[in-house]
Amino acid sequence: MPFASLCMAVDRPSAGEAGREYGGSGSLVVKSPWGRNWHDGLGFAKSRKEQLPGGLAVSQLVNAEKGIVELRRQSLRTKILLLACAISLFTSVIMGVAASLRIEGEVSRYAESNVAHETRLIAQQFKGAYDLLENDAFVISRTPPIEGIIRSKRNGGLDPQEESTIDQWRSRLEMIFASIMEERPNYTQIRYIGIADGGRELVRVNRTADGSEPVPVDMLQRKGTEPYFQRASMLKPGEVYLSDVNYNREFGQVEEPQIPTIRVAVPIFSSRGTMYGLIVINADYRALLTSYFNTLSLKREVVITNDAGDHMTRYSDGTLSPFVLHTDTTHALPGGLLDRPEDPGQSEWVSHDEEAMAYSVYLPVSQSVNDSHIVVTARISNEELYAPAKESALQSLALSSVLVVVILCGTAFLATRMTRPLSTMTKSIEMAMHGGTKLSLPTDQNDEVGMLAIAFQNLIDSRNEHDARVQAVIDNVVDAIISIDAYGTVLAYNPASEAIFGYKPEEVVGQNIKLLMPERISVEHDGYLATYRETGQRHIVGITRELQARRKDGSLFPMELSVSQVDLSDGSYMFTGIVRDITERKRMEVMQGEFVSTVNHELRTPLTSIRASLGILQRRIAGKIDPKSEHLVDISLKGCERLGVLVNDILDLEKIAAGKMDFYMAEYQIGPLVEGILERHQSLAEINDTVFELQNEIDGQYCCLDASRFSQALINLLSNAAKFSPPGKPIIIRIAQSAADRITVSVADQGPGIPEAFRSKIFQRFAQADSSATRSKGGSGLGLNITKSIVEAFDGTIDFESVEGEGTTFFMTLPICAAPEEKGAPQCQAA
Ligand code: ADP
Repeated sequence: MPFASLCMAVDRPSAGEAGREYGGSGSLVVKSPWGRNWHDGLGFAKSRKEQLPGGLAVSQLVNAEKGIVELRRQSLRTKILLLACAISLFTSVIMGVAASLRIEGEVSRYAESNVAHETRLIAQQFKGAYDLLENDAFVISRTPPIEGIIRSKRNGGLDPQEESTIDQWRSRLEMIFASIMEERPNYTQIRYIGIADGGRELVRVNRTADGSEPVPVDMLQRKGTEPYFQRASMLKPGEVYLSDVNYNREFGQVEEPQIPTIRVAVPIFSSRGTMYGLIVINADYRALLTSYFNTLSLKREVVITNDAGDHMTRYSDGTLSPFVLHTDTTHALPGGLLDRPEDPGQSEWVSHDEEAMAYSVYLPVSQSVNDSHIVVTARISNEELYAPAKESALQSLALSSVLVVVILCGTAFLATRMTRPLSTMTKSIEMAMHGGTKLSLPTDQNDEVGMLAIAFQNLIDSRNEHDARVQAVIDNVVDAIISIDAYGTVLAYNPASEAIFGYKPEEVVGQNIKLLMPERISVEHDGYLATYRETGQRHIVGITRELQARRKDGSLFPMELSVSQVDLSDGSYMFTGIVRDITERKRMEVMQGEFVSTVNHELRTPLTSIRASLGILQRRIAGKIDPKSEHLVDISLKGCERLGVLVNDILDLEKIAAGKMDFYMAEYQIGPLVEGILERHQSLAEINDTVFELQNEIDGQYCCLDASRFSQALINLLSNAAKFSPPGKPIIIRIAQSAADRITVSVADQGPGIPEAFRSKIFQRFAQADSSATRSKGGSGLGLNITKSIVEAFDGTIDFESVEGEGTTFFMTLPICAAPEEKGAPQCQAA
């Protein structure tokens, strides 16, 4: 099948379309190695929306290529944008998180210090209530009625100093008490209690619903058993006593409604230095706290408690919790808030829980002997605590977002500017490729793009130069070069093709290659291509074959076709065939065959008869005619013999060249074989007045050969040695084992040797040394060439060593084979 695998195209385009519309247009897309003037049909094939071997429509491929270029251009810009986006986002996130953490820390510290400040202030303010209580008690203790009552008591009811009766002093003191109570709505009682008479009250004013009311003398009680009285009665001058908070008791019973009461007591000493009594102020501790809390405008949860644990909470919305007396175990203090640190010196502490932060201040509230304290705790919810941090985080997030957008816009602008020259360059290249416009690259640009353009321009220039050279070769080559696609459509057709086939390029490009095939081959061709496409099974690709082709005029001619597959960058492939018109060669071969046949029949046959006749004639006339005539017959006979040898040699040569020489291979013991040949051809030596001396150094080895052809080769060497050997000098035939598996048969003479200049040609046909020795010996120059072919047919080699003036030795080296009788030994194969 000629052209069988020459092809591989995409479809079956028409010649007209190929030439007119598409010729050459795609040569830059899938680069034709054949150059500008090379009529290629790749453009045609690509434009036909035909399927490439990979199943991709050609037009799709072209568009895809454009798309890829576009995509790549966008991709670079997108990559820059993505990179900028990633960097700015990363930076923003890192900076935002760092700033948030820092701000959160700062804000919480700030909030903490604010809360601490507020808490301290609250504690100090509430301590003012205690101060006021103590102060009021001291102020009362220094009012004149206090001394006046003592003096009038001691002087029988009349104060000699002020001339006032005790009742007058009492009523004055009641007025003072009343006016103070008017000022202090939380005071429930103010009393002047005497030490004498079991702690009897001397003056007392009670709080009433309307205001205050002095208690009549007969209603005054003895308070000597009350704990606060007992503790206060031990006070020294200037000291003050502050009681625990408990419910007020009257006449030994807890008064209803229950009023949590705190009492402050200061001692009254007489001028003699003995304790006379106590000023005791009862205050409603719950009211004290309530009124204080009501003055707070701060929206913060605040808990105030004292040493005993009596506490009250004011919530951030301004509502108040019920007052809880320390004896009320059902309402414990808010968990954890008031846990004082171990360190007694630490008067302020912070505690956090899931919902809030609490700041506590531990403050001594009294100068009293019993060392009273309050603990004020302000709670701030985490939400409130971190609200400023959150707000600032949101602000920084908004700022970061704006920054990211600005960076992206800037980057998009810059990326577009940076990649624009590249896209311009790409468009220019695309237009040059598809539209044939001149390629214009920004080589004068003074940056990387300019450098890229210069490098690209250099590449294009070198490619163009290379293409031009290839083009010149393609245009001038004598062989036809034709490319086809996977379906057999001709893609390219060089000028030599036109000369060989007679078709013009436009008549062939786009047509199926079958146009150039004889009928019997073309019917099979599509099948070969289909098989190759489906199975990859090759028919002719990669080998050279002699086939027949058809010219435009329909005549057939012999051609030598070499097909190679060319893989294209898009994954498809095409085939390129080199077609050589071998019409002339075939004619010569026919002539040669005819000549050999002529020599064989027309020369050898009569020559044999002439030689035989001359032989008979020579024997018959021996001694009967004059010596000159006898000599002439002798010369004629020798001439016939030499001519016979020459004719045989020429015929052998032709057989060898045509591969038609027959070899009948068999295992032979090489020693006896050589010995027999020598015996039969001793005359060769004798004619030349020499002898053959055999040196057999081997013992029974076999070689695989054709005995007759081996004999022909050896006789040629013996004949040459005898011819060139000086008379009387023996010719040594040596048989030796030259390697473990090789036997060498050498023929050594002591002749003139082979001239240095001739040695490289000695095995060529008709090669004869240009020496007087050779000229005088005669010969055809074919013997060694035939000998070499014979030895090589036995898988052997032939070589020689020669020293001019000393002699020549030829070596035939043959592989040893197993003896024929050896069981299982491989048999000789016919060559
Ligand atoms: P022919 O002997 O018929 O001319 P050959 O091919 O046998 O052809 O030999 C070719 C040439 O090689 C000879 O003409 C001769 O010049 C040279 N030659 C061959 N054998 C020898 C030898 N033993 N000594 C010197 N020259 C030789």
